[in-house]
Amino acid sequence: MKLNVLGMNFDSKSLRFKLWVYFALFAVLIMVLLWFLQIYFLHYNYEEMKIAETNRIAQALISNYGQENFTEFCANVSSTSDIYIHVEEATGNVIYSPMMGEDTPPAYMYFRELRTTQEELIHSKNHTVSLLLEDATTDYNTLAYAREIESTREDGSVVNVRFFIFSPLYPVESTITILTHQLVYVTIISLVFSLMLGIFLAGRIARPLHNITESAKELARGKYGTVFHGENYTEIINLADTLTYTSVELEKSNALQKDIMANVSHDLKTPLTMVKSYAEMIRDLSGDNPEKRNAHLQVIIDEADRLNHLVNDMLSLSRLQTGAMIIEKKPFSIKEVAESIVQSYAIFCEQEGYSILLDCPSDVTVEADEGKIKQVLSNLINNAVKYCGSDRLVIVSIKTAHGHVRCEVTDHGMGIAPEELDNIWDRYYKASTNHVRTTSGSGLGLSIVKEIILLHGGTYGVKSEQGKGSTFWFELAH
Ligand code: ADP
Repeated sequence: MKLNVLGMNFDSKSLRFKLWVYFALFAVLIMVLLWFLQIYFLHYNYEEMKIAETNRIAQALISNYGQENFTEFCANVSSTSDIYIHVEEATGNVIYSPMMGEDTPPAYMYFRELRTTQEELIHSKNHTVSLLLEDATTDYNTLAYAREIESTREDGSVVNVRFFIFSPLYPVESTITILTHQLVYVTIISLVFSLMLGIFLAGRIARPLHNITESAKELARGKYGTVFHGENYTEIINLADTLTYTSVELEKSNALQKDIMANVSHDLKTPLTMVKSYAEMIRDLSGDNPEKRNAHLQVIIDEADRLNHLVNDMLSLSRLQTGAMIIEKKPFSIKEVAESIVQSYAIFCEQEGYSILLDCPSDVTVEADEGKIKQVLSNLINNAVKYCGSDRLVIVSIKTAHGHVRCEVTDHGMGIAPEELDNIWDRYYKASTNHVRTTSGSGLGLSIVKEIILLHGGTYGVKSEQGKGSTFWFELAH
């Protein structure tokens, strides 16, 4: 919402405006508290404080009475606490009075009050008097306190001692007036300061946020890889770094998408071209020659199979990645699954001289989606057969350890370069060391393995040494 204040436009929801308001409110709150404490409390607490102080001093006087330095103590207390002390025996013998000093005694002023209090004390039953004495000639009242106690002299005789304390109650109005003036200045200064601080801080927060918004707009317009700049505050810097990371990832994903399009079209185009040319050949040349025609038809069937395989892989991967694929976990024997895959290779192995060894000493049950785990094992065994070495040997091993089932598929082929190990799990990635892909494989096999294992909450990986072979593995909870 836009607000117009003194010709300036403010967005009432903006950080800048809100910070100003909060700072101003904070300053006002502090000021209200100060006003309240200074003026209200000063007014109402002053008298109570004075009474408490007078009582405390009276107590101290009584307990110090009889000590050697009592006179000094009295002088000290009256000068530091702005009170007037008078101590005398009931006989009239003055023990301490400011009038005893050399200078004109200020307590002279309390002569009348002393007389009044003395009279009150004589008539008091509990030997204690507490009075508020008003004096029309001065502009302030006096708090009078008197107490009589029995004391034993050095010679053993008992005497009554009277303690008188007079404490002036100055009018607080004048103090309040001074404080009010001061507080007005303090209020104005703190409001101005809080506004300036609000503007300064809002600027420091709003500027980098504004820059980030501008960069985000660029990113929205498709400029992937935009760098975001944060400053001043860790949170804003972190936000900018995260957005930069997102933007770089978007750039990568955009490049990958283009790559995928190119790969898919290429992978689809090759078999389609073959299908078309062999169909033309049958039409134009081999149609009447059953032997040739069958051979050409077989090529068409093989290519159609390849297309089918490719499209199936693409569909599985896209379903896995979009979360549309649901896994249905049930306990099953992974040994039996592995055996059935190895069995399906039996004729191929016999004809081509391959051997696939299954090393699984005991029956192992896992709770997982049987069909998907079968696909994982098939993909790994298929790759191992494709990329195996001259020994044409593939070893499938299934072990259990620490509550996990570990499956390993090992071949002794040319292995994978260390710098490519991380990438082989990406869609359509072709390791530069292997060149068999033109004839078989969709380039999606390992991505499917990765997604299925992740969906099962398992782990996966590969150990590979160039020239010696590779071991692909995955682990599932037992
Ligand atoms: P493809 O269909 O190309 O085999 P995959 O996703 O299954 O696709 O594998 C990705 C790449 O990883 C392969 O192109 C290959 O370079 C490499 N690769 C996979 N398995 C092996 C293996 N057992 N030995 C060597 N390289 C392998």
